Amino acid sequence: MSQDYYELLGVGRQASPDDLKKAFRKLAMQHHPDRNRDNKDAEKKFKEINHAYDILKDPEKRAAYDRYGPAAFEGGAGPNGPGGPFQGQGFDFGSVFGDVFEEMFGAGRGRGNRGDQRGQDLRFNLEITLEQAYGGTEATVRVPSSVTCESCRGSGAEAGSKPQQCPTCHGRGRLRVQQGFFTIERPCHACHGAGQVIDKPCRTCAGQGRVRREKTLKVNIPAGVEDGTRIRLSGEGEAGQRGGPAGDLYVFLSVRRHQLFEREGADIHCRVPISMVQATLGSNIEVPTLDGKMARVNIPAGAQGGHQFRLRGKGMPIMRSTQHGDMYIEINVETPTNLTAKQKELLKEFENAGKTSPTSEGFFSKVKEMFGG
Ligand SMILES: [Zn+2]
Ligand SMILES: [Zn+2]
Repeated sequence: MSQDYYELLGVGRQASPDDLKKAFRKLAMQHHPDRNRDNKDAEKKFKEINHAYDILKDPEKRAAYDRYGPAAFEGGAGPNGPGGPFQGQGFDFGSVFGDVFEEMFGAGRGRGNRGDQRGQDLRFNLEITLEQAYGGTEATVRVPSSVTCESCRGSGAEAGSKPQQCPTCHGRGRLRVQQGFFTIERPCHACHGAGQVIDKPCRTCAGQGRVRREKTLKVNIPAGVEDGTRIRLSGEGEAGQRGGPAGDLYVFLSVRRHQLFEREGADIHCRVPISMVQATLGSNIEVPTLDGKMARVNIPAGAQGGHQFRLRGKGMPIMRSTQHGDMYIEINVETPTNLTAKQKELLKEFENAGKTSPTSEGFFSKVKEMFGG
C-alpha cells in the first residue's frame, strides 16, 4: 500500500474534512465487502481507503503524513506490520464498518443477531507515560473477561452428556413465523438460536460454556504511539457462547501529560527558565531529553525570552520509520526577585549606563507613530 492517500480517496491535498468524509463514504459504499462478496480486490481496496481516511481525518496524523509521507504510518515487519496485532494508527475494522453499515442497511445488524455465538469484543483503557510512548513498552494488563469453561470444554453440557439437536427448530436455530401475508424468520425461542439444547447443563458454567475470569495479557506497545491509539488483540475478547469464536480485545491507549514536555505530533516542546544574566551574557545549559539523557544547548549572548532552539531528532520516534521528530527548547527569561539593596543599586547604575534594550526601542517608536501620526 504505497499509493498516495489523497489519490486513493480521489481528493486534492487541500481537501476540507468534509470533502474527505464525503469522498470516503462514497468509496466505502462502493467497495464494501457486503456488496462485493468473495471479491478480494474490493476487500483490499476497502481496507486501503479506510486506512487512508483514518490518517487524513485526524489533523495531527494528516500533518505528519503531509510532512513525512506514508513512511510515518507504514512499512516494516514486526508487530506493526500488516496482519500483526497492531492495526495501524487506530485502524479498526469494527468501528468503520459499524458506521458505514448502519447507513447502508439500517441499524440492528450486529453480530449477535445472526445467531452465531461469537464472544463480545472488549475495550480496555490503558494509560502510559510519555517515556513509555517514546521507548515502546510491554505492558501487562489484567482484563476481567469470560473464558471457555474447562469442565465442559465450552460445550455447556455436563460430562458424559452431549448437547442435543433442538427439537423445536430441528437444529436450524430459527423458526418461520406467519405474520399477516408474510412469513418471517425469528431466532428459535427454545434454544435461543443455538440450534442445540442441553439436557444436563455443566455444573461449573451452568450450561454457558464459559466462566468469568480475570485474564492477564501482555500487550506490546510500539515506540511512538499516540494518545488514542487502539491496539487489537485478536481473539482475546470474551469467549464465545458454547464454544463459539472469541471476540477481540481492543486496548485504547492514552498518554499521560508530562510535567516538563509537551508533545505536538512527533515534536516535543519544553520551556526552560534561564536567568536574566544567562540570557544577557550567553551560557551553556543542560536540558533533559526523553531518552533519559541530558543535552547541551548553547544560548548565545543577548538571547530573547520566547526564542526557540531546535534539537534535531530528539523528539518522538515516528512509527514504522527510523525517523524521530525534533525537540524545541523555548527559553523563558526570568525577572530577578528578592533583590538586596546592593543589587538594586547595581541595576539602576546598569540602566543609566546606556541603551541595552533592542526590542523596546522598536516597539516604542511604533507607539509614537501610532499616536503621533
Ligand atoms: Zn462448563
Ligand atoms: Zn431451537
